[in-house]
Amino acid sequence: AIILGIETSCDETAAAVVNNRYILSNVVASQVLAHQPYGGVVPEVASRCHLETINLVIEEALNKAGLTWAELDGIGVTCAPGLVGSLLIGVMAAKTLALVHHKPLIGVHHLEGHIYASYLANPGLEPPFLCLLVSGGHTSLIHVQACGKYEILGQTRDDAAGEAFDKVARLLQLGYPGGPAMDRAAKEGNPHAFVLPEGNVSTPEGKIHPYDTSFSGLKTAMARLITKLQADKGSLPTADLAASFQATVARALTKRVIKAALDRGLGHIVIGGGVAANSELRRQLMAATTAHGLDVTFPPLALCTDNAAMIAAAGAEHYQNNQVSGVNLATHSRLALTQVNSLYSASRS
Ligand code: ATP
Ligand code: FE
Ligand code: MG
Repeated sequence: AIILGIETSCDETAAAVVNNRYILSNVVASQVLAHQPYGGVVPEVASRCHLETINLVIEEALNKAGLTWAELDGIGVTCAPGLVGSLLIGVMAAKTLALVHHKPLIGVHHLEGHIYASYLANPGLEPPFLCLLVSGGHTSLIHVQACGKYEILGQTRDDAAGEAFDKVARLLQLGYPGGPAMDRAAKEGNPHAFVLPEGNVSTPEGKIHPYDTSFSGLKTAMARLITKLQADKGSLPTADLAASFQATVARALTKRVIKAALDRGLGHIVIGGGVAANSELRRQLMAATTAHGLDVTFPPLALCTDNAAMIAAAGAEHYQNNQVSGVNLATHSRLALTQVNSLYSASRS
């Protein structure tokens, strides 16, 4: 199916056209500069930016794909989870266009979209497989069983991996967005310079949870270390701190991924979300999966961070499965990945 995808859940205004697992166009207007003065995403600013650019971005996506409205089979749009004021802009645009051009509307869960980036990177990929989703808002280990069928094996109890990167980058005064800046700073540093807590979580029985993580303790340890080094030495070994932090996060994630893959007998691992861009995480996962004879798919960076091609690809598969949404499609700031099928109340025919 040929699907137009629209994504406005956070700070990227994006539109794309795919033919199932093949990208025909992929346009992303980033709002990074608009939020930079505030050091983080400001919801009101995000909504206004989406409103200003959404029409242009959609038009460009269609033009780049070289298609007319008549040639589209449907419109997929992110409707959950995310900033409601941002989601609404994309969903209102999608609903209007669906009505005007008589196209089916397909609501898409943003995290299912991140999983679908792997299908775009590797069109032959078939479930079951294990997905590590590491983004600004999520750190989840997902057993992907089929389109719309997901089991969450583990997640973070507090900060998401990307959130931890952004907060620690701020402590190190590396600017916004923090993840890429940490990755760059770490290149010059020694990953063994500091020993940091690995983000373990206890079960009620007092054991270490095999798949869940907690990054707030790691963040607090970094804050203490930074204050102490600043007081003792008057300066910071920024590169060593960034490298040690990054290696610790990568180790915590890699351990859990390998354990889950072996426990569940899943031979293929895919990575999604913005933190999948991290070079140390890629290096450690590559080494560990190779050592255990597991296959791994790393989507290219442009598909790891927010984009609409992944949303269109997820929409295309639901459309093929005769799952579409009604014009009353709602937005949800939170919605569990296990609830995606609740978005499809209507049938295509
Ligand atoms: P969610 O998908 O959970 O709603 P989001 O869409 O904001 O959150 P993404 O756009 O997928 O998240 O990813 C953004 C996050 O990825 C930010 O926290 C950013 O710092 C982080 N990130 C990007 N590049 C890197 C990198 N090279 N190393 C570490 N983190 C990175
Ligand atoms: Fe995202
Ligand atoms: Mg983003």
